[in-house]
Amino acid sequence: MLAARRMDNCRTRSLQRDAQTSIPKRNNAMPEAPLIACPECDLLQVETPLPPRRTACCRRCGVALYRSSSDSLDRALAFALAAVVLLVIANSLPIAGLEVTGQHTETTLWGAVQALYDQDRVAVAGLVFATTLFAPAVELALMLYMLVPLRLGRVPRHLSLAFRLAPLAHEWGLVDVFMLGVVVSLIKLGNLATVVPGIALWSFGVLILLLTAVGASFDAREFWLRAAANRAALDRAAGGTRERALEPAT
Ligand SMILES: [Zn+2]
Repeated sequence: MLAARRMDNCRTRSLQRDAQTSIPKRNNAMPEAPLIACPECDLLQVETPLPPRRTACCRRCGVALYRSSSDSLDRALAFALAAVVLLVIANSLPIAGLEVTGQHTETTLWGAVQALYDQDRVAVAGLVFATTLFAPAVELALMLYMLVPLRLGRVPRHLSLAFRLAPLAHEWGLVDVFMLGVVVSLIKLGNLATVVPGIALWSFGVLILLLTAVGASFDAREFWLRAAANRAALDRAAGGTRERALEPAT
């Protein structure tokens, strides 16, 4: 398995030197190349630019370290925006309708939470609200808070905090578990009543795929590289403005 992973991911071995040999040779006249630590064996290595669609691998254990720059952040932003639309639809339209003896009833996710609360199942209502509505909404809000300013060439003020909170919100988002429970319940209810799947049910299904796509597209290394590039560009622009302000009026 590990060998296959190495074969798939490590098409280019671009890291030529490790830190043990490169660091002592540096002096003030040399530009400092960035270092990267292998997540498997902790070997520090010097990053080198890669050709397009290539992957750099650890020279000791062969694990993929980073890929050449791509549009992963733009894809993550596009998936996050689509997920926001789906989240709104999934929480505003009925999940499913039931027809029993000519009577039709349907409910939304928020209606289900309220029904649980009214039946004194406060803990269950809180868990459903937190894991299927609150956590996904917070995760998407954090992703947009980080990615939209970066796309516009800016750097959010609380970028590091948002970066740490986003995985936490992702762990508490259990839309897939909720969907599994809903589908099993609807199948069992099919013997007692006519079940009509609502638009929200399909929306939740697509939302699960989009949330997965957001996480799969997000490249932390490219994220920090773009943040650093934006910050440097803003600093240069601020420095130029300051210099113009200090120029004597003619
Ligand atoms: Zn390694």
